[in-house]
Amino acid sequence: MNIVTNFPFCDILNQKMDAVAKEADQTNEIVSYNPATGAEVGRVPITSPEDVRTAVERARTAFQSWKKTSFAERAVYIMKAREMILSQIDEIAHLISAESGKPFGEAISMEIAPVLDLLQYFARNTEKLLRPARVGIGLYALLGRSSRIVYHPLGVVGIIPAWNYPFSIPLGEAAMALMAGNTVVIKPSELTPLTGLKIEEIFEKAGLPANCVQIASGAGETGAALVDAAPGKIMFTGSVATGKKIATAAAQNLTSVVLELGGKDPMIVFADANLELAAGAAVWGAFCNSGQSCSSVERLYVQEGAAEELTRKIIEKTRQLKQDTGYKETTSVGAMSSERQIAIVEDHVEDFRAAGAKIETGGRRNPSLEGLFYEPTVITNASNDMRAMQEETFGPTLPIATFATEEDAIRLANDSEFGLTASVWTRDHAKGQRVAEQIEAGSVCVNEVLYTHGIGQTPWGGFKNSGRGRTHGREGLMELVQPQHIHVNRIALLPDAWWMPYSPTAVMTFRGFARYFATGSVLQTARMLPQLLKRIKELWK
Ligand code: NDP
Repeated sequence: MNIVTNFPFCDILNQKMDAVAKEADQTNEIVSYNPATGAEVGRVPITSPEDVRTAVERARTAFQSWKKTSFAERAVYIMKAREMILSQIDEIAHLISAESGKPFGEAISMEIAPVLDLLQYFARNTEKLLRPARVGIGLYALLGRSSRIVYHPLGVVGIIPAWNYPFSIPLGEAAMALMAGNTVVIKPSELTPLTGLKIEEIFEKAGLPANCVQIASGAGETGAALVDAAPGKIMFTGSVATGKKIATAAAQNLTSVVLELGGKDPMIVFADANLELAAGAAVWGAFCNSGQSCSSVERLYVQEGAAEELTRKIIEKTRQLKQDTGYKETTSVGAMSSERQIAIVEDHVEDFRAAGAKIETGGRRNPSLEGLFYEPTVITNASNDMRAMQEETFGPTLPIATFATEEDAIRLANDSEFGLTASVWTRDHAKGQRVAEQIEAGSVCVNEVLYTHGIGQTPWGGFKNSGRGRTHGREGLMELVQPQHIHVNRIALLPDAWWMPYSPTAVMTFRGFARYFATGSVLQTARMLPQLLKRIKELWK
Protein backbone atom coordinates (compact mmCIF):
# COMPACT_ATOMS: atom_id res chain seq x y z
CA MET A 1 0.00 0.00 0.00
CA ASN A 2 2.78 2.42 0.79
CA ILE A 3 4.87 4.03 -1.87
CA VAL A 4 8.32 2.59 -1.97
CA THR A 5 10.32 5.05 -3.99
CA ASN A 6 13.82 3.73 -4.57
CA PHE A 7 16.72 6.10 -4.70
CA PRO A 8 19.35 4.43 -6.82
CA PHE A 9 22.25 6.43 -5.46
CA CYS A 10 21.50 6.21 -1.79
CA ASP A 11 21.29 2.93 0.12
CA ILE A 12 20.79 4.61 3.48
CA LEU A 13 17.75 6.45 2.16
CA ASN A 14 16.33 3.28 0.68
CA GLN A 15 16.79 1.37 3.92
CA LYS A 16 15.17 4.18 5.88
CA MET A 17 12.23 4.30 3.45
CA ASP A 18 11.72 0.55 3.64
CA ALA A 19 11.61 0.77 7.44
CA VAL A 20 9.12 3.64 7.27
CA ALA A 21 7.00 1.69 4.78
CA LYS A 22 6.81 -1.33 7.11
CA GLU A 23 5.88 0.85 10.08
CA ALA A 24 3.24 2.72 8.04
CA ASP A 25 1.71 -0.56 6.91
CA GLN A 26 0.99 -1.33 10.54
CA THR A 27 -0.53 2.06 11.25
CA ASN A 28 -2.46 1.98 7.94
CA GLU A 29 -1.03 5.23 6.67
CA ILE A 30 0.32 6.52 3.37
CA VAL A 31 3.76 8.03 3.65
CA SER A 32 4.42 10.87 1.24
CA TYR A 33 8.03 11.28 0.12
CA ASN A 34 9.80 14.10 -1.64
CA PRO A 35 11.03 12.50 -4.89
CA ALA A 36 13.89 15.00 -5.09
CA THR A 37 15.38 14.10 -1.70
CA GLY A 38 13.69 10.97 -0.40
CA ALA A 39 12.69 12.89 2.74
CA GLU A 40 9.33 12.13 4.29
CA VAL A 41 6.87 14.96 3.65
CA GLY A 42 4.18 13.58 5.94
CA ARG A 43 1.68 10.79 6.58
CA VAL A 44 -2.00 10.43 5.96
CA PRO A 45 -4.37 7.78 7.37
CA ILE A 46 -5.84 5.55 4.68
CA THR A 47 -9.62 5.75 4.24
CA SER A 48 -11.07 2.24 4.34
CA PRO A 49 -13.58 1.16 1.64
CA GLU A 50 -16.30 1.26 4.31
CA ASP A 51 -15.35 4.82 5.24
CA VAL A 52 -15.41 5.77 1.56
CA ARG A 53 -19.01 4.53 1.36
CA THR A 54 -19.86 6.52 4.48
CA ALA A 55 -18.24 9.62 2.99
CA VAL A 56 -20.37 9.26 -0.15
CA GLU A 57 -23.49 8.83 2.01
CA ARG A 58 -22.61 11.97 3.97
CA ALA A 59 -22.04 13.80 0.68
CA ARG A 60 -25.50 12.66 -0.49
CA THR A 61 -27.08 14.09 2.65
CA ALA A 62 -25.12 17.35 2.28
CA PHE A 63 -26.31 17.55 -1.34
CA GLN A 64 -29.94 17.85 -0.23
CA SER A 65 -29.28 21.30 1.22
CA TRP A 66 -26.36 22.36 -1.03
CA LYS A 67 -28.45 21.95 -4.18
CA LYS A 68 -30.93 24.50 -2.81
CA THR A 69 -28.31 27.23 -2.42
CA SER A 70 -28.30 30.01 -5.01
CA PHE A 71 -25.46 30.52 -7.48
CA ALA A 72 -24.60 33.72 -5.63
CA GLU A 73 -24.26 31.86 -2.30
CA ARG A 74 -22.06 29.18 -3.89
CA ALA A 75 -19.91 31.86 -5.50
CA VAL A 76 -19.24 33.42 -2.09
CA TYR A 77 -17.69 30.15 -0.85
CA ILE A 78 -15.65 29.67 -4.01
CA MET A 79 -14.31 33.22 -3.83
CA LYS A 80 -13.47 32.70 -0.14
CA ALA A 81 -11.60 29.51 -1.07
CA ARG A 82 -9.72 31.64 -3.61
CA GLU A 83 -8.73 34.07 -0.86
CA MET A 84 -7.54 31.16 1.31
CA ILE A 85 -5.30 29.98 -1.52
CA LEU A 86 -3.92 33.45 -2.12
CA SER A 87 -3.16 33.91 1.57
CA GLN A 88 -0.92 30.81 1.61
CA ILE A 89 0.33 30.73 -1.95
CA ASP A 90 3.99 29.96 -1.10
CA GLU A 91 3.08 27.33 1.47
CA ILE A 92 0.85 25.53 -1.03
CA ALA A 93 3.45 25.77 -3.81
CA HIS A 94 6.11 24.30 -1.49
CA LEU A 95 3.81 21.42 -0.58
CA ILE A 96 3.03 20.65 -4.23
CA SER A 97 6.72 20.86 -5.08
CA ALA A 98 7.73 18.63 -2.15
CA GLU A 99 5.23 15.89 -3.00
CA SER A 100 5.58 15.96 -6.79
CA GLY A 101 9.17 17.10 -7.37
CA LYS A 102 8.17 19.97 -9.66
CA PRO A 103 9.84 23.39 -9.29
CA PHE A 104 8.23 25.66 -6.72
CA GLY A 105 7.77 28.41 -9.36
CA GLU A 106 6.06 25.99 -11.71
CA ALA A 107 3.63 24.98 -8.95
CA ILE A 108 2.58 28.64 -8.90
CA SER A 109 2.56 29.27 -12.65
CA MET A 110 1.01 25.99 -13.78
CA GLU A 111 -1.24 25.04 -10.88
CA ILE A 112 -2.10 27.88 -8.53
CA ALA A 113 -2.48 30.78 -10.99
CA PRO A 114 -4.63 28.85 -13.50
CA VAL A 115 -6.90 27.40 -10.84
CA LEU A 116 -7.41 30.84 -9.25
CA ASP A 117 -8.53 32.07 -12.66
CA LEU A 118 -10.84 29.08 -13.05
CA LEU A 119 -12.38 29.70 -9.61
CA GLN A 120 -13.19 33.34 -10.33
CA TYR A 121 -14.56 32.47 -13.77
CA PHE A 122 -16.97 29.77 -12.63
CA ALA A 123 -17.94 31.70 -9.48
CA ARG A 124 -18.97 34.61 -11.70
CA ASN A 125 -20.31 32.80 -14.74
CA THR A 126 -21.91 29.48 -13.79
CA GLU A 127 -25.34 31.04 -13.34
CA LYS A 128 -25.16 32.49 -16.84
CA LEU A 129 -23.76 29.28 -18.33
CA LEU A 130 -26.52 27.19 -16.75
CA ARG A 131 -29.34 29.66 -17.35
CA PRO A 132 -32.52 27.82 -18.43
CA ALA A 133 -32.64 27.97 -22.20
CA ARG A 134 -35.63 28.12 -24.57
CA VAL A 135 -35.38 25.66 -27.41
CA GLY A 136 -36.79 26.42 -30.84
CA ILE A 137 -39.32 23.67 -31.62
CA GLY A 138 -40.33 24.76 -35.08
CA LEU A 139 -43.97 24.22 -36.09
CA TYR A 140 -44.92 22.81 -32.68
CA ALA A 141 -44.69 26.41 -31.46
CA LEU A 142 -47.59 27.27 -33.81
CA LEU A 143 -49.63 24.74 -31.87
CA GLY A 144 -49.05 26.81 -28.71
CA ARG A 145 -46.24 24.66 -27.28
CA SER A 146 -42.90 25.77 -25.88
CA SER A 147 -39.80 23.98 -24.60
CA ARG A 148 -37.25 25.03 -22.03
CA ILE A 149 -34.16 23.24 -20.69
CA VAL A 150 -33.30 23.54 -17.01
CA TYR A 151 -30.13 22.08 -15.53
CA HIS A 152 -30.10 20.01 -12.36
CA PRO A 153 -27.03 18.96 -10.38
CA LEU A 154 -26.18 15.25 -10.39
CA GLY A 155 -25.67 14.66 -6.65
CA VAL A 156 -22.26 13.47 -5.52
CA VAL A 157 -19.33 13.84 -7.92
CA GLY A 158 -16.36 11.52 -7.32
CA ILE A 159 -13.03 12.95 -8.47
CA ILE A 160 -10.04 10.67 -9.02
CA PRO A 161 -7.04 12.68 -10.23
CA ALA A 162 -3.47 11.74 -11.17
CA TRP A 163 -0.38 12.92 -9.25
CA ASN A 164 1.05 15.23 -11.90
CA TYR A 165 -1.17 18.28 -11.25
CA PRO A 166 -2.35 17.24 -7.79
CA PHE A 167 -3.74 20.64 -6.81
CA SER A 168 -5.19 22.35 -9.86
CA ILE A 169 -6.97 19.42 -11.48
CA PRO A 170 -9.02 18.14 -8.49
CA LEU A 171 -9.57 21.62 -7.06
CA GLY A 172 -10.77 23.04 -10.37
CA GLU A 173 -13.11 20.11 -10.99
CA ALA A 174 -14.42 20.31 -7.41
CA ALA A 175 -15.15 24.04 -7.75
CA MET A 176 -17.06 23.50 -11.00
CA ALA A 177 -19.02 20.62 -9.47
CA LEU A 178 -19.91 22.74 -6.42
CA MET A 179 -20.96 25.71 -8.53
CA ALA A 180 -23.26 23.38 -10.47
CA GLY A 181 -24.87 22.34 -7.14
CA ASN A 182 -23.14 19.00 -6.50
CA THR A 183 -21.16 17.80 -3.52
CA VAL A 184 -17.77 16.18 -3.97
CA VAL A 185 -15.57 13.32 -2.76
CA ILE A 186 -11.96 13.38 -4.00
CA LYS A 187 -9.53 10.45 -3.97
CA PRO A 188 -6.09 12.05 -4.48
CA SER A 189 -3.17 10.05 -5.84
CA GLU A 190 -1.26 8.10 -3.20
CA LEU A 191 1.85 10.01 -4.33
CA THR A 192 0.36 13.39 -3.38
CA PRO A 193 -1.96 12.75 -0.41
CA LEU A 194 -1.11 15.89 1.56
CA THR A 195 -1.92 18.14 -1.38
CA GLY A 196 -5.31 16.39 -1.44
CA LEU A 197 -5.88 17.17 2.24
CA LYS A 198 -4.86 20.77 1.57
CA ILE A 199 -7.81 21.09 -0.83
CA GLU A 200 -10.19 19.90 1.90
CA GLU A 201 -8.64 22.37 4.36
CA ILE A 202 -9.05 25.27 1.91
CA PHE A 203 -12.78 24.62 1.53
CA GLU A 204 -13.17 24.10 5.27
CA LYS A 205 -11.49 27.45 5.97
CA ALA A 206 -13.71 29.04 3.33
CA GLY A 207 -16.65 27.99 5.53
CA LEU A 208 -18.17 25.52 3.07
CA PRO A 209 -20.93 23.51 4.78
CA ALA A 210 -19.76 20.19 6.22
CA ASN A 211 -19.35 17.22 3.84
CA CYS A 212 -19.69 19.25 0.65
CA VAL A 213 -16.04 18.44 -0.13
CA GLN A 214 -14.43 15.37 1.43
CA ILE A 215 -11.15 13.60 0.81
CA ALA A 216 -10.74 9.83 0.75
CA SER A 217 -7.03 9.03 1.02
CA GLY A 218 -5.42 5.90 -0.31
CA ALA A 219 -4.25 4.08 -3.39
CA GLY A 220 -6.13 2.33 -6.20
CA GLU A 221 -8.39 0.32 -3.83
CA THR A 222 -9.69 3.55 -2.31
CA GLY A 223 -10.42 4.90 -5.80
CA ALA A 224 -12.20 1.65 -6.67
CA ALA A 225 -14.31 1.95 -3.48
CA LEU A 226 -15.31 5.47 -4.54
CA VAL A 227 -16.47 4.17 -7.93
CA ASP A 228 -18.33 1.28 -6.27
CA ALA A 229 -20.16 3.72 -3.97
CA ALA A 230 -22.11 4.84 -7.09
CA PRO A 231 -21.72 8.62 -7.06
CA GLY A 232 -23.62 10.58 -9.70
CA LYS A 233 -20.47 10.98 -11.78
CA ILE A 234 -16.81 10.00 -11.78
CA MET A 235 -14.30 12.54 -13.07
CA PHE A 236 -11.16 10.50 -13.66
CA THR A 237 -7.69 11.64 -14.73
CA GLY A 238 -5.02 9.01 -15.31
CA SER A 239 -3.81 6.24 -17.54
CA VAL A 240 -5.77 4.46 -20.28
CA ALA A 241 -5.45 1.15 -18.39
CA THR A 242 -6.99 2.53 -15.17
CA GLY A 243 -9.55 4.51 -17.18
CA LYS A 244 -10.82 1.27 -18.71
CA LYS A 245 -11.04 -0.39 -15.28
CA ILE A 246 -13.00 2.56 -13.94
CA ALA A 247 -15.37 2.64 -16.91
CA THR A 248 -16.03 -1.09 -16.43
CA ALA A 249 -16.65 -0.76 -12.69
CA ALA A 250 -18.80 2.36 -13.13
CA ALA A 251 -20.96 0.56 -15.68
CA GLN A 252 -22.20 -1.79 -12.91
CA ASN A 253 -24.18 1.14 -11.46
CA LEU A 254 -24.59 2.98 -14.76
CA THR A 255 -22.46 5.74 -13.26
CA SER A 256 -21.33 8.06 -16.02
CA VAL A 257 -17.66 8.89 -16.26
CA VAL A 258 -15.45 11.57 -17.71
CA LEU A 259 -12.08 10.09 -18.61
CA GLU A 260 -9.05 12.37 -19.03
CA LEU A 261 -6.37 9.96 -20.18
CA GLY A 262 -2.92 9.90 -21.71
CA GLY A 263 -1.39 11.73 -24.63
CA LYS A 264 1.42 11.52 -27.17
CA ASP A 265 1.11 15.08 -28.28
CA PRO A 266 2.72 16.18 -31.54
CA MET A 267 4.24 19.57 -32.29
CA ILE A 268 4.48 20.39 -36.00
CA VAL A 269 6.96 23.08 -37.02
CA PHE A 270 6.79 24.35 -40.60
CA ALA A 271 9.87 25.90 -42.19
CA ASP A 272 8.21 29.34 -42.23
CA ALA A 273 7.71 29.36 -38.43
CA ASN A 274 9.53 31.67 -36.04
CA LEU A 275 12.15 29.05 -35.15
CA GLU A 276 13.48 30.88 -32.11
CA LEU A 277 10.01 30.92 -30.55
CA ALA A 278 9.27 27.36 -31.65
CA ALA A 279 12.49 26.12 -30.03
CA GLY A 280 11.63 27.83 -26.72
CA ALA A 281 8.11 26.42 -26.86
CA ALA A 282 9.39 22.91 -27.59
CA VAL A 283 11.78 23.02 -24.64
CA TRP A 284 9.10 24.26 -22.23
CA GLY A 285 6.43 22.00 -23.71
CA ALA A 286 8.60 18.90 -23.40
CA PHE A 287 10.38 19.53 -20.10
CA CYS A 288 8.04 21.46 -17.80
CA ASN A 289 6.96 19.26 -14.89
CA SER A 290 9.80 16.95 -16.08
CA GLY A 291 7.64 16.05 -19.06
CA GLN A 292 4.92 14.66 -16.81
CA SER A 293 2.02 16.57 -18.35
CA CYS A 294 -0.67 14.83 -20.33
CA SER A 295 -0.26 17.60 -22.92
CA SER A 296 3.56 17.55 -22.98
CA VAL A 297 5.21 17.74 -26.38
CA GLU A 298 6.03 14.05 -26.81
CA ARG A 299 6.87 14.15 -30.55
CA LEU A 300 8.22 17.01 -32.63
CA TYR A 301 7.92 17.02 -36.43
CA VAL A 302 9.93 19.70 -38.21
CA GLN A 303 9.86 20.46 -41.93
CA GLU A 304 13.06 19.31 -43.60
CA GLY A 305 14.48 22.76 -44.52
CA ALA A 306 14.26 24.00 -40.92
CA ALA A 307 15.32 20.83 -39.09
CA GLU A 308 18.98 21.66 -38.60
CA GLU A 309 18.46 25.18 -37.27
CA LEU A 310 15.53 24.26 -35.01
CA THR A 311 17.36 21.25 -33.57
CA ARG A 312 20.48 23.32 -32.86
CA LYS A 313 18.43 25.94 -31.04
CA ILE A 314 16.57 23.30 -29.02
CA ILE A 315 19.80 21.56 -27.97
CA GLU A 316 21.38 24.88 -26.95
CA LYS A 317 18.38 25.87 -24.87
CA THR A 318 18.11 22.43 -23.27
CA ARG A 319 21.76 22.44 -22.20
CA GLN A 320 21.18 25.74 -20.38
CA LEU A 321 18.38 24.34 -18.18
CA LYS A 322 19.17 24.02 -14.49
CA GLN A 323 18.02 20.77 -12.96
CA ASP A 324 17.76 20.64 -9.18
CA THR A 325 15.39 20.26 -6.25
CA GLY A 326 12.10 22.08 -6.70
CA TYR A 327 12.37 24.48 -3.77
CA LYS A 328 15.16 26.49 -5.46
CA GLU A 329 13.77 29.37 -7.50
CA THR A 330 16.45 28.89 -10.16
CA THR A 331 15.42 25.30 -10.89
CA SER A 332 13.79 24.81 -14.29
CA VAL A 333 13.59 21.01 -14.32
CA GLY A 334 12.79 19.19 -11.10
CA ALA A 335 12.61 15.56 -10.05
CA MET A 336 10.33 12.95 -11.53
CA SER A 337 7.51 11.66 -9.40
CA SER A 338 8.42 8.01 -8.91
CA GLU A 339 10.89 5.29 -9.71
CA ARG A 340 8.19 3.61 -11.83
CA GLN A 341 7.94 6.71 -14.04
CA ILE A 342 11.70 7.15 -14.42
CA ALA A 343 11.98 3.47 -15.42
CA ILE A 344 9.54 4.08 -18.31
CA VAL A 345 11.69 6.99 -19.50
CA GLU A 346 14.83 4.84 -19.37
CA ASP A 347 13.08 2.09 -21.30
CA HIS A 348 11.92 4.53 -24.01
CA VAL A 349 15.33 6.19 -24.37
CA GLU A 350 16.91 2.73 -24.73
CA ASP A 351 14.28 1.91 -27.36
CA PHE A 352 15.22 5.06 -29.30
CA ARG A 353 18.93 4.20 -29.06
CA ALA A 354 18.41 0.61 -30.17
CA ALA A 355 16.21 1.70 -33.08
CA GLY A 356 18.92 4.00 -34.44
CA ALA A 357 17.83 7.42 -33.14
CA LYS A 358 20.52 9.75 -31.78
CA ILE A 359 20.59 11.05 -28.20
CA GLU A 360 21.84 14.62 -28.62
CA THR A 361 21.84 15.63 -24.97
CA GLY A 362 20.72 14.00 -21.72
CA GLY A 363 19.73 10.36 -22.01
CA ARG A 364 20.52 9.39 -18.43
CA ARG A 365 19.66 9.95 -14.76
CA ASN A 366 21.39 13.06 -13.47
CA PRO A 367 24.60 11.70 -11.90
CA SER A 368 25.13 14.71 -9.66
CA LEU A 369 21.74 14.61 -7.95
CA GLU A 370 20.57 11.98 -5.48
CA GLY A 371 16.83 11.97 -6.09
CA LEU A 372 14.70 10.88 -9.03
CA PHE A 373 16.17 13.19 -11.66
CA TYR A 374 16.30 12.34 -15.35
CA GLU A 375 18.17 14.80 -17.54
CA PRO A 376 16.19 16.67 -20.21
CA THR A 377 16.83 14.62 -23.32
CA VAL A 378 16.78 15.66 -26.97
CA ILE A 379 16.65 12.86 -29.54
CA THR A 380 17.03 13.19 -33.32
CA ASN A 381 16.40 10.78 -36.22
CA ALA A 382 13.23 9.57 -34.52
CA SER A 383 10.49 7.99 -36.61
CA ASN A 384 6.96 6.78 -36.02
CA ASP A 385 7.86 3.10 -36.36
CA MET A 386 9.83 3.31 -33.10
CA ARG A 387 7.88 2.01 -30.08
CA ALA A 388 8.80 5.07 -28.02
CA MET A 389 7.12 7.31 -30.64
CA GLN A 390 3.83 5.48 -30.05
CA GLU A 391 3.66 4.82 -26.28
CA GLU A 392 3.25 7.68 -23.82
CA THR A 393 6.61 8.44 -22.18
CA PHE A 394 5.50 11.01 -19.59
CA GLY A 395 9.06 12.15 -18.99
CA PRO A 396 11.65 14.73 -20.09
CA THR A 397 12.30 13.49 -23.61
CA LEU A 398 11.95 15.40 -26.87
CA PRO A 399 12.22 13.15 -29.92
CA ILE A 400 12.51 15.00 -33.23
CA ALA A 401 11.49 13.66 -36.66
CA THR A 402 11.27 15.43 -40.01
CA PHE A 403 8.58 15.77 -42.68
CA ALA A 404 8.44 17.06 -46.24
CA THR A 405 4.88 18.25 -46.95
CA GLU A 406 1.80 19.49 -45.12
CA GLU A 407 0.07 16.16 -45.83
CA ASP A 408 3.02 14.24 -44.35
CA ALA A 409 2.91 16.34 -41.19
CA ILE A 410 -0.81 15.68 -40.70
CA ARG A 411 -0.43 11.95 -41.37
CA LEU A 412 2.48 11.61 -38.93
CA ALA A 413 0.72 13.60 -36.21
CA ASN A 414 -2.45 11.50 -36.54
CA ASP A 415 -0.56 8.21 -36.54
CA SER A 416 -1.24 7.59 -32.83
CA GLU A 417 -3.79 5.92 -30.58
CA PHE A 418 -3.91 9.21 -28.62
CA GLY A 419 -5.41 12.60 -29.44
CA LEU A 420 -5.24 14.99 -26.51
CA THR A 421 -3.48 18.15 -27.76
CA ALA A 422 -1.22 19.21 -30.60
CA SER A 423 0.47 22.35 -31.83
CA VAL A 424 1.20 23.78 -35.26
CA TRP A 425 3.88 26.40 -35.83
CA THR A 426 3.80 28.61 -38.91
CA ARG A 427 3.70 32.30 -39.82
CA ASP A 428 0.90 31.49 -42.27
CA HIS A 429 -2.21 31.64 -40.09
CA ALA A 430 -4.51 30.22 -42.76
CA LYS A 431 -2.24 27.18 -43.06
CA GLY A 432 -2.05 26.91 -39.26
CA GLN A 433 -5.85 26.79 -38.94
CA ARG A 434 -6.20 24.44 -41.91
CA VAL A 435 -3.71 21.97 -40.46
CA ALA A 436 -5.12 22.33 -36.91
CA GLU A 437 -8.58 21.28 -38.08
CA GLN A 438 -7.16 18.10 -39.61
CA ILE A 439 -5.35 16.98 -36.45
CA GLU A 440 -7.24 14.38 -34.41
CA ALA A 441 -6.91 16.01 -30.99
CA GLY A 442 -9.20 17.67 -28.43
CA SER A 443 -7.18 20.93 -28.40
CA VAL A 444 -4.87 22.21 -31.10
CA CYS A 445 -2.80 25.37 -30.69
CA VAL A 446 -1.36 27.44 -33.51
CA ASN A 447 1.92 29.11 -32.43
CA GLU A 448 1.33 28.12 -28.79
CA VAL A 449 1.90 25.00 -26.81
CA LEU A 450 0.59 22.94 -23.89
CA TYR A 451 -0.97 25.60 -21.68
CA THR A 452 -4.66 25.54 -22.66
CA HIS A 453 -5.64 23.37 -19.68
CA GLY A 454 -4.93 26.62 -17.83
CA ILE A 455 -7.73 28.40 -19.72
CA GLY A 456 -10.66 27.20 -17.64
CA GLN A 457 -13.10 28.90 -20.00
CA THR A 458 -12.31 26.40 -22.77
CA PRO A 459 -13.23 22.71 -22.97
CA TRP A 460 -10.53 20.16 -22.18
CA GLY A 461 -10.53 16.53 -23.27
CA GLY A 462 -9.25 14.06 -25.78
CA PHE A 463 -10.08 12.33 -29.04
CA LYS A 464 -9.35 8.60 -29.49
CA ASN A 465 -7.74 6.90 -26.45
CA SER A 466 -7.03 10.24 -24.79
CA GLY A 467 -10.42 10.21 -23.17
CA ARG A 468 -14.15 10.64 -23.12
CA GLY A 469 -16.11 13.72 -22.13
CA ARG A 470 -14.77 17.14 -21.21
CA THR A 471 -13.68 19.12 -18.21
CA HIS A 472 -13.57 22.94 -18.15
CA GLY A 473 -15.56 25.38 -20.24
CA ARG A 474 -19.32 25.18 -20.75
CA GLU A 475 -18.88 21.66 -22.11
CA GLY A 476 -17.19 20.61 -18.85
CA LEU A 477 -19.97 22.19 -16.80
CA MET A 478 -22.54 20.24 -18.82
CA GLU A 479 -20.86 17.03 -17.63
CA LEU A 480 -21.75 18.02 -14.07
CA VAL A 481 -25.48 18.56 -14.57
CA GLN A 482 -28.44 16.73 -16.03
CA PRO A 483 -30.61 18.65 -18.44
CA GLN A 484 -34.35 18.57 -17.92
CA HIS A 485 -36.75 19.40 -20.72
CA ILE A 486 -39.91 21.24 -19.63
CA HIS A 487 -42.55 21.23 -22.37
CA VAL A 488 -45.68 23.36 -21.99
CA ASN A 489 -48.89 23.46 -24.04
CA ARG A 490 -50.23 26.95 -23.39
CA ILE A 491 -53.46 26.49 -25.32
CA ALA A 492 -54.58 23.03 -24.19
CA LEU A 493 -58.16 23.43 -25.41
CA LEU A 494 -58.31 20.70 -28.01
CA PRO A 495 -57.17 17.06 -28.09
CA ASP A 496 -54.02 16.32 -30.12
CA ALA A 497 -54.66 14.90 -33.56
CA TRP A 498 -52.46 11.88 -32.81
CA TRP A 499 -54.42 10.78 -29.74
CA MET A 500 -56.71 7.71 -29.67
CA PRO A 501 -59.02 6.40 -30.96
CA TYR A 502 -57.43 5.84 -34.38
CA SER A 503 -59.51 5.72 -37.56
CA PRO A 504 -59.16 6.07 -41.34
CA THR A 505 -59.38 9.88 -40.84
CA ALA A 506 -56.59 9.62 -38.26
CA VAL A 507 -54.35 7.64 -40.60
CA MET A 508 -54.96 10.14 -43.40
CA THR A 509 -53.97 12.95 -40.99
CA PHE A 510 -50.81 11.08 -39.95
CA ARG A 511 -49.87 10.84 -43.66
CA GLY A 512 -50.28 14.62 -43.77
CA PHE A 513 -47.98 15.01 -40.78
CA ALA A 514 -45.35 12.89 -42.53
CA ARG A 515 -45.71 14.66 -45.88
CA TYR A 516 -46.28 18.29 -44.91
CA PHE A 517 -45.75 19.05 -41.19
CA ALA A 518 -42.43 17.16 -41.11
CA THR A 519 -41.03 19.45 -43.83
CA GLY A 520 -40.79 22.20 -41.22
CA SER A 521 -42.47 24.55 -43.74
CA VAL A 522 -45.54 26.59 -42.73
CA LEU A 523 -46.67 26.78 -46.35
CA GLN A 524 -46.49 23.02 -46.80
CA THR A 525 -48.19 22.41 -43.47
CA ALA A 526 -51.04 24.72 -44.49
CA ARG A 527 -51.95 22.10 -47.11
CA MET A 528 -53.03 19.65 -44.43
CA LEU A 529 -55.22 22.08 -42.47
CA PRO A 530 -58.58 20.82 -43.85
CA GLN A 531 -57.57 17.25 -42.99
CA LEU A 532 -56.41 18.33 -39.53
CA LEU A 533 -59.71 20.07 -38.80
CA LYS A 534 -61.59 16.96 -39.92
CA ARG A 535 -59.59 14.88 -37.51
CA ILE A 536 -60.05 17.29 -34.58
CA LYS A 537 -63.77 17.34 -35.25
CA GLU A 538 -63.75 13.56 -35.17
CA LEU A 539 -61.97 13.53 -31.80
CA TRP A 540 -64.11 16.30 -30.39
CA LYS A 541 -67.40 14.45 -30.89
P1 NDP B 1 -3.14 6.07 -12.91
O1 NDP B 1 -4.12 5.61 -13.91
O2 NDP B 1 -2.16 5.09 -12.39
O3 NDP B 1 -3.88 6.66 -11.62
C1 NDP B 1 -4.81 7.73 -11.68
C2 NDP B 1 -5.64 7.75 -10.43
O4 NDP B 1 -6.44 6.57 -10.36
C3 NDP B 1 -4.82 7.77 -9.15
O5 NDP B 1 -5.47 8.54 -8.17
C4 NDP B 1 -4.82 6.30 -8.77
O6 NDP B 1 -4.53 6.08 -7.42
C5 NDP B 1 -6.24 5.91 -9.11
N1 NDP B 1 -6.48 4.49 -9.32
C6 NDP B 1 -5.60 3.52 -9.63
N2 NDP B 1 -6.24 2.33 -9.79
C7 NDP B 1 -7.56 2.57 -9.58
C8 NDP B 1 -8.74 1.77 -9.61
N3 NDP B 1 -8.72 0.47 -9.91
N4 NDP B 1 -9.93 2.35 -9.35
C9 NDP B 1 -10.00 3.67 -9.08
N5 NDP B 1 -8.92 4.48 -9.02
C10 NDP B 1 -7.71 3.94 -9.27
O7 NDP B 1 -2.41 7.32 -13.56
P2 NDP B 1 -1.19 8.16 -13.00
O8 NDP B 1 -1.53 8.67 -11.65
O9 NDP B 1 0.06 7.39 -13.19
O10 NDP B 1 -1.22 9.42 -13.97
C11 NDP B 1 -0.54 9.49 -15.18
C12 NDP B 1 -1.50 9.44 -16.35
O11 NDP B 1 -2.48 10.45 -16.22
C13 NDP B 1 -0.81 9.68 -17.67
O12 NDP B 1 -1.24 8.75 -18.62
C14 NDP B 1 -1.30 11.07 -18.05
O13 NDP B 1 -1.28 11.33 -19.44
C15 NDP B 1 -2.67 11.08 -17.49
N6 NDP B 1 -3.15 12.45 -17.31
C16 NDP B 1 -4.14 12.90 -18.15
C17 NDP B 1 -4.59 14.20 -18.06
C18 NDP B 1 -5.66 14.70 -18.97
O14 NDP B 1 -6.20 15.76 -18.70
N7 NDP B 1 -6.02 14.00 -20.04
C19 NDP B 1 -4.02 15.15 -17.10
C20 NDP B 1 -3.02 14.56 -16.25
C21 NDP B 1 -2.60 13.26 -16.37
P3 NDP B 1 -2.99 5.98 -6.92
O15 NDP B 1 -2.20 7.04 -7.61
O16 NDP B 1 -3.11 6.24 -5.51
O17 NDP B 1 -2.55 4.61 -7.33
